[in-house]
Amino acid sequence: MNPRIFKQKGYLLLVSSILLITLGSVLYLSNLRFQQKISRQLYSTEQKNNDLQELNTLQLKALKDKRGYQLRGEDRLLNSYLSQKEKAAALARKTAREFREDSLSPSIVQLMELTQQRFQDWDQQLHYLASLTPEEAARKLQAGYQQATQLSEQWEQQYAAIQQVLTRRIQELAAEQERLSILNNTSFIILLVVVAGLMTWSVYAIRHQDYLKQQHDTTLRINAAARASQQEFSAAFEFASIGMALVALDGSFMRVNNSLCKLLGYTNRELKALSFQDITHPDDLNRDVDFVNQMLEGTIENYSMEKRYIHKDGSLIWVNLSVSMVNHADGKPKYFISQIENITELKSTQEQLEANAVKFRGIFNSAMQFIGFLAPDGTLLDANHTMLDFAGIRIEEVKGKKFWDCYWWQKDEETIENLKHAISEAAAGETVVYEVVVLGKEGAEMPILFSLKPLVDASGKVVAMLPEGRPIKEIVQAREQLVQKNEELEQFASMAAHDLKEPLRMVGNFMSLLKTKHAAQLDEKALRYIDFAINGSNRMSRLISDLLDYARLGSEHFPFEKIDPASLLKEITAMNDSLITQQSASITWTHLPRITGQKIAIQLLFQNLVMNALKYQVADHKPEIVITGADAADYWHFTIRDNGIGIPAEAHEKIFQVFSRLHTKDKYDGTGMGLATCKKIVGIHGGRIWVESSEGKGSSFHFTISKTAHE
Ligand code: ADP
Repeated sequence: MNPRIFKQKGYLLLVSSILLITLGSVLYLSNLRFQQKISRQLYSTEQKNNDLQELNTLQLKALKDKRGYQLRGEDRLLNSYLSQKEKAAALARKTAREFREDSLSPSIVQLMELTQQRFQDWDQQLHYLASLTPEEAARKLQAGYQQATQLSEQWEQQYAAIQQVLTRRIQELAAEQERLSILNNTSFIILLVVVAGLMTWSVYAIRHQDYLKQQHDTTLRINAAARASQQEFSAAFEFASIGMALVALDGSFMRVNNSLCKLLGYTNRELKALSFQDITHPDDLNRDVDFVNQMLEGTIENYSMEKRYIHKDGSLIWVNLSVSMVNHADGKPKYFISQIENITELKSTQEQLEANAVKFRGIFNSAMQFIGFLAPDGTLLDANHTMLDFAGIRIEEVKGKKFWDCYWWQKDEETIENLKHAISEAAAGETVVYEVVVLGKEGAEMPILFSLKPLVDASGKVVAMLPEGRPIKEIVQAREQLVQKNEELEQFASMAAHDLKEPLRMVGNFMSLLKTKHAAQLDEKALRYIDFAINGSNRMSRLISDLLDYARLGSEHFPFEKIDPASLLKEITAMNDSLITQQSASITWTHLPRITGQKIAIQLLFQNLVMNALKYQVADHKPEIVITGADAADYWHFTIRDNGIGIPAEAHEKIFQVFSRLHTKDKYDGTGMGLATCKKIVGIHGGRIWVESSEGKGSSFHFTISKTAHE
């Protein structure tokens, strides 16, 4: 029911009820007033009746007192009589007034007159008694007896007649009052019932009205929600970034959105003329149709599948299809809703990934190196075939184990600790490389260059670690051989140098002897040849000394100790004092840092560089040599700067090679071993040496000494 109508009806009912109640109330009140009037009438009638009865009583009392006085002559009785008479007279006046407008008024007037006559008669009788002799009085009384009786009877009759009328009246009024009372009570009850009914109805109506209003509101809300949902669906459908379609039960497209048209290359109208069967790749059609049938049978409620559509231009499009069904109210299938997501790119990426994975596994497993994957906590995630085959195990036997608990490692404390340390370093982002021996099947051992690299994600977090083992059996063997050969060579060089020096010294000595003892017998040419031979032997001797120094640097193990370069330089300058004085050279240094190194080698290093700085000068040019030292983080950095002839840029590398010289011995004497020796010394001390120079502008020789080379 429309609540407005209901509301109107409710008000109508309410108004009519109020009218009814008003009418009822008016009737009830007027009835009540009437009833009250009747009551008043009844009361006054009863009052009149009572007054008459009282008048009667007063007369009877007065009569009794008069008779008593007549008999006993007591004044008391006479007084009482007079008093009754007065009261009766007053009551008679009052009664006459009460009945003045009454229809009984004439009867009452008569009755009052009779009353008066009776009292006059009684007064007469008393007067007789008082004024006459008893006999006369008795006679007079006897004579008046008849009149008195007559008066009394008249009074009685009149009184009875009036009383009869009054009694009838009282009865009628009482009956009327009773009737009105019943009527009033009844109407009051009816009024009460109407009010109660109305109130009940009002409560019910209000409640029901709320309920109906609620129902109406709910209906409105549902309708609005349905409309909104319909609009939302339409908007979602039309503007969805993925393809959407409503598909009829036979597979034809009922409604398609823009994205789907774009995806398949058809216009909306063209697509609606087709069915999904028309544009599905034949290889995917059966599976799709199977799903559709299952949905129609009610076995499944929805499905998703990857399939291929054929674009209008004939190309294939990979999509992810999700289908659900819309039913009629009775549960029968109505149509399908399809969501179609283009996954062509995803597919090709996936294929690419799969191809890459195949490539990766190929490379991973066919690599000659031992390669694995570790979690940052050292758990082995994967190991390649090379690694597994060498140990003769399967991946299941080691996957998930801590790497140091795996087969390959010797179980001594050092190996395990090194490995754990390497794993924690790599987990912190460091790359660790060291040599270690791994164990293979049947007691095989393999020295490898083990490297552990962290693999980080885009945020720089270490997500895995890549252990890689490069077999270095041949390298180790070659290195051992090389070390052995080097040692042999150095021993040979050292011995050769020693052994060569001896005959050389003999040649030099005998030549000098020949020159001093037989100079007189020899001509000038012979003496010059002897000088050549002596010079040659000296040079040879120096060369052998330099070679010996060079060889000893590798073979002999000098101890590392604290060295003060300043004191070394003092010694060097003291030893070469005459040369320095002769060249008027200045050699200065300030605050050179103390270093740790092989003292003899470091002294040789400074000496070679200072001597070169003195030597490679233009004739008569005063050499100025400045030596400085500085702290360079992990190194000490020294510089020997001179104002000599300088070195062309192209020779900056070459001069550090063995026997490499830029000048002939006639111009600048030397063996070409000095800087090579310097390079070897610096190498032993974990540093490097280089030169900054240009021709004619002096040279600055730099070298570094590691602070930790001795550790
Ligand atoms: P040498 O015994 O010839 O001095 P070195 O190995 O000490 O052998 O030096 C190699 C070459 O480097 C020298 O022949 C010289 O040409 C060049 N050289 C070395 N020190 C200096 C310098 N301070 N100034 C210019 N040239 C230098």
